[in-house]
Amino acid sequence: MSAEEASLRDLLFGATEKSDRRTDSESARFAETSHIPENAAPEIRVLLYRLFRKTQPFYVTDATGALLCCSESFTRISNRFMDGLDTLVDLVTSARMAGGEIRRSDCFDDQGTQRHFSSTHFPIYSDQGTLLGFGGVYEDVTRQVETAQKASHIESWFQDVVRSSSDWVWAIDHNYNLSFVSPRISEILGEPPQSLSGRHLFAMGDFTADDPLASRTRQDMEVRAPFRGRHFVLKLKSGEERHVHLSAVPVFDDDSGAFRGYRGTGTDITLRVQSQEIIEASRARLEDTYAELRRRNEELRISLDHAKVSESTKLEFLAMMSHELKTPLNSIIGFSDAAIHRVHGPIVGPYASYFENIHTAGRHLMGIITSLLDMASLERQSPTIHPNKEAVEHLIEEAVQLADPGAHANDLDLSGLLPKTDLWVYCDHLRARQILINLVGNAMKFTPAKGKIGIDVETRPEGMVAITVWDTGIGIPSDKLPRIFEKFYQVEQNIPSRGGAGTGLGLSISRHLARLMGGDLTVTSIQGKGSRFTLTLPGESSGRTA
Ligand code: ADP
Repeated sequence: MSAEEASLRDLLFGATEKSDRRTDSESARFAETSHIPENAAPEIRVLLYRLFRKTQPFYVTDATGALLCCSESFTRISNRFMDGLDTLVDLVTSARMAGGEIRRSDCFDDQGTQRHFSSTHFPIYSDQGTLLGFGGVYEDVTRQVETAQKASHIESWFQDVVRSSSDWVWAIDHNYNLSFVSPRISEILGEPPQSLSGRHLFAMGDFTADDPLASRTRQDMEVRAPFRGRHFVLKLKSGEERHVHLSAVPVFDDDSGAFRGYRGTGTDITLRVQSQEIIEASRARLEDTYAELRRRNEELRISLDHAKVSESTKLEFLAMMSHELKTPLNSIIGFSDAAIHRVHGPIVGPYASYFENIHTAGRHLMGIITSLLDMASLERQSPTIHPNKEAVEHLIEEAVQLADPGAHANDLDLSGLLPKTDLWVYCDHLRARQILINLVGNAMKFTPAKGKIGIDVETRPEGMVAITVWDTGIGIPSDKLPRIFEKFYQVEQNIPSRGGAGTGLGLSISRHLARLMGGDLTVTSIQGKGSRFTLTLPGESSGRTA
């Protein structure tokens, strides 16, 4: 190394600040690689060295592309040329071919960190237009690139959210013109997002006036207030309506604070609104039906009241008439009986048979009237039952006697009518006897000559006692059996063999009374073979007491 060179080096490197101090080999290498002109004045070299260490990467070449000088930072970049970046020769060649400025964006790994550079490479001409060389300057844009990457990451994250969200995302500018709509809105409106952009919010629909909160949204927007869940009705081109809940916040310029518009979301509530409408309509229909039902009910109640009044009037009339009829009828029966028995002297001619007819007809009428009276009093109020412990054998004896089977003793076998039994029942004596008289009377009425009637007694489960009045009479057709206990029901073509027509009330009254006493009245019958009517009453072991 010459003395001149050494002094230059001293000048160059001996005067550097401590922080800039380098080892000899480093500074020598730098002096070499930075190509500081050797013939430059030492002060200039110091200045250039300081400058070259501090500035962004740059380089200058001669017209052939040979490096004349460069900044320290460029030497670091140029080390990376080996890693696939354009070499200096490549850059100069490209600038030469382009005849002007070319731009590059490069990225390289600087001691473990990624650094991004934007560079410009250009030819340098003399005033006369002669090509002197080439220059290039680099700008470290790592931060900008990272910011842009972050922004694009956020943007794609936002797009994913918008795409996957069932809600709408929208934005309007300060004039309320749409500046952004998510694809879902355009799907529903059937228009591409581009055609919606720029459309005025209120040209697409409006907040509903039906909801007080929604209807004041326009005023809220005038004062730039945020709003949430406001019912907005969108009018589609097809004329249909879509219902949306809109929420949004105002946007202001970061620097000036000027109003920039609104950003928000929307939820399609059309289905909910439609279901609500259906529910409302159904409820209205239900209410109408309910009102109609109530009206009908009221009508029915009034009719029922009328019916009750007329029924009770009818029953009262029946009771009164029956009672009124009974008095003269008793006289007729009494006088005809007296005449038959010649109480007041002999009767001549056919008058004897007349009196017998009068007597029979009178008793028959009396039976009907008694039944009617019974029925009327049962319907008006339940008769009071006085249960007592009664001997079944005694009850049957009395009933048979009163039913007067003696009249048919000759043509019916009555041998089974008085069974021996020591069973007891709890019942109202008179009512139980009345039932048995009715059953024995019917058996005699509906059994032809040579037939047989009788009574069986047996115990039943749960302490009940069954008294069955049976006959071998005409029986009852099976399809008529279920109606046999109805009021006034008589089996058609069920011609009684004796005793005249009845009222069709006896069995109805009997079953009613049997049930009042805690028992029942049932029937089994075979047409042409006979019938069995069974009266059940609580027995001694039934747990009942008198
Ligand atoms: P009534 O005997 O006064 O007609 P009931 O209520 O006692 O009224 O009987 C109703 C009907 O049941 C009778 O008209 C008759 O058709 C039928 N019936 C009742 N008992 C018998 C019986 N033992 N055999 C056949 N039919 C009977």
